[in-house]
Formats: sequence, C-alpha cells, structure tokens
Amino acid sequence: MKIYEKAPAKINLLLDVLHKREDGFHEVEMIMTMVDLADRLEMEELQRDQIIISSQAGYIPLDEKNLAFQAAKLIKDRYDVRKGVYIHLDKKIPVAAGLAGGSSDAAATLRGLNRLWGLGISNQELCVLGAELGSDVPFCVTGGTALATGRGERLEYIENPPQCWVVLAKPPINVSTADVYGRFKAAELTEHPSMKDMLSAISRGSFNDMCASLGNVLEKVTLKHYPEVLQLKESMQRLGAEGVLMSGSGPTVFGLVSKEAKLARIYNGLRGFCKEVYVVRMLT
Ligand code: ATP
Repeated sequence: MKIYEKAPAKINLLLDVLHKREDGFHEVEMIMTMVDLADRLEMEELQRDQIIISSQAGYIPLDEKNLAFQAAKLIKDRYDVRKGVYIHLDKKIPVAAGLAGGSSDAAATLRGLNRLWGLGISNQELCVLGAELGSDVPFCVTGGTALATGRGERLEYIENPPQCWVVLAKPPINVSTADVYGRFKAAELTEHPSMKDMLSAISRGSFNDMCASLGNVLEKVTLKHYPEVLQLKESMQRLGAEGVLMSGSGPTVFGLVSKEAKLARIYNGLRGFCKEVYVVRMLT
C-alpha cells in the first residue's frame, strides 16, 4: 500500500525572542502560518524492518540525519512497529531556507505513518512526538495559524490571516538556524515587534495592519551578515509588495501582496537577479 502526504512550508508573520533559557533554547513568541508551497511525500510499507529514504533533491541527507527518517524511526520505536517503510521526498521547499521544510517533512511522516500503519494516534500525541524531533514540528503536524511560545512547541491556534498572495525569494546562500540563534543576543534588542498589534490585525482581518505589524528579530543577525538578504527585502518593497519580512532565520524573504495585478512586476523584477522566486497563496 502507498500513501501520499503534503508537507507545506511555514512562514512566521512575527518572530520575537524573549531570552535565552537555562536549557540553551531561546524563549520565543511567534505567529506561524502555512503557505501553499509543499513537498510531497510518498510512503510505501516494506515487509522487512527497514527505513529507506529517497529524494530527487541531491543536497539533503538520505540517512538517519534526514528528519523524515528520524520521524519514522521514532514512531516505529514508540509504537513497536516491526515493518519498514520506503519514503520518497519530492522536495519543492528550498532547503535551509527558513521555511521549515525538514520539520514539515517530519510532521508529514508522522501523519502518514499513523495512517499507513493504522496506529490511531491522536493529533495531540503526534505533536508530543513531533516536539522530540524539533521545535517547529508540532506546528507542522497540525498546520493552520498559531501563536507559538516556549521554544516554539506550545501552540495556541488563532484565526487564519486575511487571504493574500505570498511571494517568496531565496538568495543562493544557506543559513543555519543554529548559527543565527548562536549569534543572537536578546539583551541587545532595543525594540520588539508588537504581538498585540499583530493579533489584533489578524482578528480584524486587516491586511494593511497585518503588513504594518510584521516583525522578525532574527533579521538583526541575518541581515547584518548576509547583505544580499537586505537587498532582497529592499527590492521587494520597491517592486510593490505591501508587507516584507525575512522568514524564520532566513535567508528567504517573503512579500505579502493583496492585488494579483501587482504580481508579474514583483516576480519579474526579482527574477532579474534571484533564481528562486515562488508565488503562492496563504494556506487558509
Ligand atoms: P528551520 O527554519 O526549521 O531550521 P529550514 O527551512 O531553515 O528549517 P530545512 O530545510 O529544514 O531548513 O533544512 C535544515 C537542514 O536540515 C539542512 O541542512 C538539511 O541538510 C537537513 N535536513 C534533514 N532532513 C531534511 C529534509 N527532509 N528536508 C530538508 N532538509 C533536511
């Protein structure tokens, strides 16, 4: 039997870091939502007790370092499943881009194997398992739009943001999330984005106020070390995107656009100097 799962990319409309915790993680406050740019996972049961990962993307690990492998191993061990699985990852989400592609693959693996093996695990339990794999995995298990706190694993679901177009552009550099957090100094922050304003904009369905409330404190680190990300932000703003922000720890930049008529100019303008540009919708 074969099953398929979609693993959509995540963006943060707001990302704030409050402080570094004793356990080494950062205490964060984020608004996360999904966009319609997704990896597609194909999962097929194997009678022999083995996990095999393949992908058309040449640049991700296919062994136990792959997050889909780790998710399959976790669910097998925890639920004592003696069968194996072959997982093919059709990668569409750029890797190490700040779009949680690996986390979403892990979440899709948990959902998929729960179905494939008829384990009957609740969504809540899948989220608990997901938290063992990474801070963003619980959110990727459920999708929707959430206020995430703690290290990102504590979720409070909120309304979806007003529907709009999302232009994503990734410069040809890879940014390590661990590296960005490593360089980040919460104490040096003088300004924090307003979570109150963002929550109010979303609950009122105000696109303009949502754009005005976008904020990501990690920009302070990434923009300083990678000037091409700043250049991308400025270009997107100049080309007419109404709200522009770096996603996660970067380097992907997203632009929110309310009018379809604006998209061609923004897309073509960015493609002039950036190869990876995607135009998608919010997944609401
Ligand atoms: P995050 O913001 O959650 O750190 P990201 O979008 O910046 O995620 P990913 O695309 O998840 O980054 O990849 C981060 C690293 O994880 C890469 O260096 C990659 O080698 C590794 N990795 C492991 N499994 C996967 C996977 N299934 N897909 C993509 N990358 C993976």
